[in-house]
Amino acid sequence: MRLGISSCLLGTNCRYDGGHSRDRFITDMLGEYFEFVPYCPEKMVFTTPREAIRLVRIDDDIKVKTSVGNIDVTSKVVDISKELSNQIQDDDLCGFILKSKSPTCGLERVKVYPSKKNGMSEKNGIGVFAKQIKDKYPSLPLEEEGRLGDAWLRENFLMQIFSYKNIFEFLKTNPSAKDLVAFHTSYKYIIYSKSHISYKELGQIVANHDKRDIKVVLEDYKHAFLKAISLKGSISNTYNVLLHLYGYFKKDISKDEKTEMLDTFEEFKNGLIPLIAVIKILNLYIKRFEIDYLKSQIFLNPYPKELALRSKVEAYR
Ligand code: SF4
Repeated sequence: MRLGISSCLLGTNCRYDGGHSRDRFITDMLGEYFEFVPYCPEKMVFTTPREAIRLVRIDDDIKVKTSVGNIDVTSKVVDISKELSNQIQDDDLCGFILKSKSPTCGLERVKVYPSKKNGMSEKNGIGVFAKQIKDKYPSLPLEEEGRLGDAWLRENFLMQIFSYKNIFEFLKTNPSAKDLVAFHTSYKYIIYSKSHISYKELGQIVANHDKRDIKVVLEDYKHAFLKAISLKGSISNTYNVLLHLYGYFKKDISKDEKTEMLDTFEEFKNGLIPLIAVIKILNLYIKRFEIDYLKSQIFLNPYPKELALRSKVEAYR
């Protein structure tokens, strides 16, 4: 799996000051599972080290200027950002991690300075390169390294990346209507944990009541699926999913086992235990009663368990 990344996050000395912004979670943890494709727009048009640049508001326009010399470098940064963002489509990426706060790579809350000296900056800008990527690839999973420190955002981002990869790999297999039903079924509870409305919408596309050509159906499904996986899951939706899963075997277990199971769900809902602890118990029952329908649910095994994303209670809210 290939992930685009702001080069400095990998430890490349390409920052304006000649340093880097290596992020250990990215290099040491995600590096085990992803091939990184580094991008550094600034390095391609300026020397390193170089004078820092910043976003400056001039009337309704945002310009890029050097911080000390106040030289307008907007066209240089915009042109290279366009060129590199065009290149992304050939790089077969399933997501992109961007450097926060950068006037080139920052995805949100980048400082925008007023044109007059001594005015207050506002944290409401987006980096030039980040904007190009966002506009050109609205479905590509994007996140900043700073936000990946938040367990909930990290879990959602990783879930989105793996799902993004899965849908495109599935579509490459030239699937039939029957294959689409199987794919959709396997994603039932992941989508449920994000939005019931999205699951319904996807179900209607798969049902294909208007008997449309499968290619049209697949295209519609792809767009609705990409939108659904970009939504963040919630603890209450996830709790409802757990109750659904429990419904498959509740008649087959003892009263004490039922109490234990429901108590476990409550503890998860109240942030006392992580999701992985609940899933472990569910899996025991799913194996004991050989519930094949649930064994195929990606919700129970969405990405390599070594990533340990569901091991933190903070991963759900
Ligand atoms: S933030 Fe972006 S442009 Fe700046 S050094 Fe890192 S990769 Fe290069």
